[in-house]
Amino acid sequence: MRDVVPHRPGMKSKVSVHLLKAHSPSDLRAAVRGIRGEVRFSEALRDFTSFHIGGPADVLVLPADVEDLCLLVRQARLLKVPLFVLGGTNLLVREGGIRGIVVNLSKLNGITDEPGHVVYAEGGVGMPTLMKHAISRSLSGLEWAAGIPGTVAGCVVMNAGTRLGEMKDALKEVRLVDQKGRIIDCPLSAIRFSYRRALLPRGIVVGAWLQLKPGAREKIEAVVKEYLRHRKETQPLALPSAGCVFKNPPGDAAGRLIEAVGLKGARIGDAQVSEKHANFIVNLGRANADDVIALIKQVGRTVEEQTGVTLELELKIVGQP
Ligand SMILES: Cc1cc2nc3c(=O)[nH]c(=O)nc-3n(C[C@H](O)[C@H](O)[C@H](O)COP(=O)(O)OP(=O)(O)OC[C@H]3O[C@@H](n4cnc5c(N)ncnc54)[C@H](O)[C@@H]3O)c2cc1C
Repeated sequence: MRDVVPHRPGMKSKVSVHLLKAHSPSDLRAAVRGIRGEVRFSEALRDFTSFHIGGPADVLVLPADVEDLCLLVRQARLLKVPLFVLGGTNLLVREGGIRGIVVNLSKLNGITDEPGHVVYAEGGVGMPTLMKHAISRSLSGLEWAAGIPGTVAGCVVMNAGTRLGEMKDALKEVRLVDQKGRIIDCPLSAIRFSYRRALLPRGIVVGAWLQLKPGAREKIEAVVKEYLRHRKETQPLALPSAGCVFKNPPGDAAGRLIEAVGLKGARIGDAQVSEKHANFIVNLGRANADDVIALIKQVGRTVEEQTGVTLELELKIVGQP
């Protein structure tokens, strides 16, 4: 898909960056003509990322519904204006911001119960909201996701998970808007999942059917509560971050390696390797993307030199320097 820029799987490089060329203001205005949702020009993306870091989007669009998104995709394609989808919890947006149109699906927030303990969640539903919904219906199968702050769509694309489970375990089918602006329902057989990656047909994920199972509400609640307690104890949740920076290498934990090379607490500007969990980088207040990238490079280099392990980024770095 040339004009829609979703997650690019296979990002092995230490620091990968999306660089998108500038488009004329008139093309940008034409691409969003007739959009019923919110359209904001030069919108600061730091307000849309869990890191609280990031320059402006040329245009930020919050489509009113899936049809609105289809129109946007078709118009942007005609004008060759790139689209980037942002939930914002696994991203570092650079200070130059993102050229073209950034799409945020927060208005696609519907949840529908279907027969057979299936729940359909639109792509912009937050995982914590979906979890609450499942608990209210005494449905089990999402407990592993307790504390993951991303959207349902972002969790599909990232195959988000913990050591207790991952998104693919609960998925039944995925709905996408493809590059031509058509709605496509995609069976699991058309998706290849691996660790923190889902290889999907190109497009924007707008919803997912989840196959859950009946359970005892108190038991589900107790499990979720325990996982949340454990997170609070082991992760720096009071400070802005984008979760784990690196993927765990096979048979090891990135956090353990970073701690072993003495980098817990290391700091560049206001970016710090968390003292609580070494695989988190936290924003102590005024960190910018360059501080975080410099720290990521320092961590990657030191771990490689001292242990021989090349850490792969889980975090996505996007936008212009
Ligand atoms: C405190 C904290 C704890 C976390 N804990 C975990 C954890 O335990 N496990 C875990 O896996 N992750 C964790 N994360 C990271 C993050 O929440 C997940 O990676 C989540 O899946 C990202 O969802 P998002 O909606 O924020 O997507 P984003 O971070 O915005 O995007 C991730 C990628 O998906 C693409 N994308 C997003 N939406 C769409 C869409 N609709 N269609 C196509 N492409 C899309 C983006 O362009 C980007 O390439 C944590 C983050 C934080 C801040």
